[in-house]
Parts: sequence; structure tokens; C-alpha cells
Amino acid sequence: MIPKAELHVHLEGTAPPELVRRLAKRNRMDLPEEIFGDDGNYHWTDFLHFLKVYDATAATIRTPEDYRDVTYEYLAGCAEEGAIYVEVMSSPDHSAANGMSYANHQEGIVAGIEDARADHGIEGRCIVTCVRHFGAEQAMEVARQVAARPHPLVSGFGMGGDEAGFPPAQFARAFKYVADSGLPCTVHAGEWAGPDRVREAIETLPVQRLGHGVRAAEDPALVQEIVARGITLEVCPGSNFATGIYRDFSDHPLARLRADGVKTTLNSDDPPYFATSVGREYDEAAEHLELDDDGLAGFTRNALKAAFVDEPTRETLLARLDAGAGGKSP
Ligand SMILES: [Zn+2]
Repeated sequence: MIPKAELHVHLEGTAPPELVRRLAKRNRMDLPEEIFGDDGNYHWTDFLHFLKVYDATAATIRTPEDYRDVTYEYLAGCAEEGAIYVEVMSSPDHSAANGMSYANHQEGIVAGIEDARADHGIEGRCIVTCVRHFGAEQAMEVARQVAARPHPLVSGFGMGGDEAGFPPAQFARAFKYVADSGLPCTVHAGEWAGPDRVREAIETLPVQRLGHGVRAAEDPALVQEIVARGITLEVCPGSNFATGIYRDFSDHPLARLRADGVKTTLNSDDPPYFATSVGREYDEAAEHLELDDDGLAGFTRNALKAAFVDEPTRETLLARLDAGAGGKSP
């Protein structure tokens, strides 16, 4: 199995229905049944409805133990699919809405990463994210929390949420604050908005990577700029198909971006909502982009090179990739 790596998955969105039901029971909460479809999976109709279902399930994660279990179970599942490294994006705004402090939020995630490493050999890191549509002041608040409580397993900062309504430049102060504290940054851009917002993001925020970034493909000069800056794209094809940004691989720009020399990676984004997983993303790319094992290992190499991780760990992971890629022995 090709060693895999993933840089873009929202932790609160990784819990499958079975785990969410378990958490709801543990926390004595009633779950609205309409969030589940007849097949037992999450049911949503459009993006706004998706966000509602997402918030309802995220509300079941209420204690450090809950965060530990969500993190641990996700990483264990990724390890089963051959992943050696995963960065999960966490949202302190979600946990604060459930009455949790940032310290408790961090404590649970760190425990999940450490336990998954011990039991399954997978390396993990946490990227703390703020939410665009909560505004620049709240983003600054999250930035302050992250910088004030450093932890070796919390290794980056990012931002998700309503891209179309909240341009990146508004958040320059929060990103600069975190970057000045020594943490690398990524930001969602070029998913729900076009190339102009991608350009604004790389010109106004200190980012080494872009979440999605695929709509940069609409502007060839911008694609060249991304190549020149060495920015890595966290591409999530299954998510893009599920939300309707692209129909399928026939109109998805991943192959074109690769051909133009952009560093791309494969990611699941919100796996149980989009009927995907890191393993499935690799399988689908192999099939539709007609990639052999070397081609797939290239995605893992890009991810490890762009990972927000310390250099000794990066070297260890790259050696694991070399040992495992193509079925070759070390
Ligand atoms: Zn995302």
C-alpha cells in the first residue's frame, strides 16, 4: 500500500454517524434525526444545510475525552488506509460554543494524536483554525489563544468558513500575529471564490499553503505565481464534487495544475459528509488521473515536504515513504 499523507481535514467533521451517536449518548443529548438519511449517513441538501448538519454533529464534542476520541478514531482509520501522517484542523470556536476552554480543546486533541501514534504508528499534528464569518476580531482572539499556549503537536494556523463573503485581507493582522509567534499558516482560498481572492490571500497573508486553491487554475499568471512562490495546494477533489464546485475529474483542474508544476496534495476535507476518506481520494486520483504508484507517492512526498512539522519528524516520514512506496523494501 502506498504510504499516504493528508494536510486538510476538519477534525470536528471527521466523526462518522456512529461516533456522533455515541458522543450524544455519553453527553445525554438528543440528536435531531433529520441529520441522518435513510442509509444512516449524514443527510444534507445544499451548502448552507451542510453547515447546519455539521454544527449539530460538532455540538456533540463537549469534553477533552470527546476530542481525544474523535482525534484518535480518525487517525486510527487513516492508518488502516496506509496514512503515515495527517494534519487535522481544529476549531476552538466550535468547542467554545460547547463550553470548552482552549486548554481543554488542546488537551483532548493532543491526547488523541499521542495515543494514535502509540497504537497505530501514525504521526499527527493539529492546525488551529479560525472562522471567517465570525469576523476579524474573533480571528484575532483565536490567534492570541494559539500563540499564548504553544505545544509541539499544535503546529500551524489556518482559516475556513464563508470565503465568498469575507476577503482574506481582513484577517492580515491575526495571521501576522500567529506567524510572528513562529507558526506556519495556511488558508482556505480558491474554493467558493475565484482567482482574485487566491491572489489576495497570497499577497496579504503569510501562507505557505492554500486550502483547495484549485480555482487559481482560472488565471494562468496566478498559477505561475503559485509555482514561483513554492506554495502547496491542499486539493480535495471528493469535497469539490460533493459541494458541486466541479462535476467530476473531467472538469477538475487537478491534472492541469500538476502539469503546470504546482505542488498538489490529496485530502478528504470532511470525509463522512462527502462519502470519502484519504484512501478513497488516492484511489480515485489513481483511477481518473491514470497514476501509477510513483505518481501517487508524489502526492505524499508533496504533503510531507509542505507538512507543518519539525525537521527530524519530516526526515523520518520521508524515509518511511521511500521505504514503503512501490512496495520496495527499505
Ligand atoms: Zn476545508
